[in-house]
Amino acid sequence: MRFEFATATRIVFGEGTAATLPELVRTFGTRPLVVTGASTERGAWLVSALSAETALIAGEPTVDLVREGARRVQDAGCDVIVSFGGGSAIDAGKAIAIIATNGGEPLDFLEVVGKGRSLAAPSLPYIAVPTTAGTGSEVTRNAVLASTQHGVKASLRSPLMLPRVALVDPELTYTLPPAITAATGLDALTQLIEPYVSARANPLVDGVCVEGMRRVAGALRRAYHDGAERDPRRDMALASLFGGLALANAGLGVVHGFAAPLGGSFKAPHGALCAALLPHGMAANVAALRARAPELPALERYSAIACLLTGRKDASAEDGIEWVRALCQELKIPPLRAWGITEADLPGIVENAARASSMQANPLPLTPEELLGMLTAAR
Ligand SMILES: [Zn+2]
Repeated sequence: MRFEFATATRIVFGEGTAATLPELVRTFGTRPLVVTGASTERGAWLVSALSAETALIAGEPTVDLVREGARRVQDAGCDVIVSFGGGSAIDAGKAIAIIATNGGEPLDFLEVVGKGRSLAAPSLPYIAVPTTAGTGSEVTRNAVLASTQHGVKASLRSPLMLPRVALVDPELTYTLPPAITAATGLDALTQLIEPYVSARANPLVDGVCVEGMRRVAGALRRAYHDGAERDPRRDMALASLFGGLALANAGLGVVHGFAAPLGGSFKAPHGALCAALLPHGMAANVAALRARAPELPALERYSAIACLLTGRKDASAEDGIEWVRALCQELKIPPLRAWGITEADLPGIVENAARASSMQANPLPLTPEELLGMLTAAR
């Protein structure tokens, strides 16, 4: 056996830790840029405590926005970047911090649709502070950007992009509305399930995934129904962090393989797409494994997932799928058609998804027919 598990991010976790941020930021630089989501009032205290430059991310980050942010950093002479927000603000800040030192044009470095040049210069010091519990982006080494020109989402990726510090304060998530709690929480669950069954899984990732799934099973319903309760919010913040560590080390799978082209072409949040796809992705993989590759460890792993989620020792892979389906129903996850995705769009999405980097880690390759069947069921 041989495996690697890397993270160079210092993780600071705990209720109330956000109050230590201004001091922490000053240990890295004196001219910070704070990147926030659209609800800027949430990060206003931080901006004023740091007398910082600000950048605002409304919606998911685009190539254009990152180019503009990097120029802003260069013009203002910023020496440290802080993201305070959801996955969009974190990916944007992470991308701005690396593009600012590597020459300014994101498309030179973007996977799949860009020139694929590798990022050589270290990023500016970058601190990630998530205000949702889902993406785990605070501990990953990639940033997903939309290229409106190409109609897809693709990643900037480099070990040099790992945040210096991930500061995770569960109190920041207490006020999240139920719909965002649901979508981001199911993204976190997806990011624990996909690495666990991935072709690149390893024992250290397994430990992280099992502990994360156990926490989601007990916490997500409670966080959705009573957002101000402390313990479920803490569990979801941990689950999100664990998902980020897992995906950065073992990759993802078919759900994220579809989330990339869907998110590039339709105005739907990443978490909502993953949530709508998750039970169908599990079903497609389990059916394909039973039909073509029952010897792969992934099939047994789907049963282990089912036991963790349902709390029953004799649960089958199908019971796990059913548990996730029922959870999506209870959390009122809208189907793909709610985001304007029509039946006529599906074949094109299947074609685009074949190029997505996440597809490579799926436990086995799915046929175009299986992929189309999965999307049709999720719509
Ligand atoms: Zn995700």
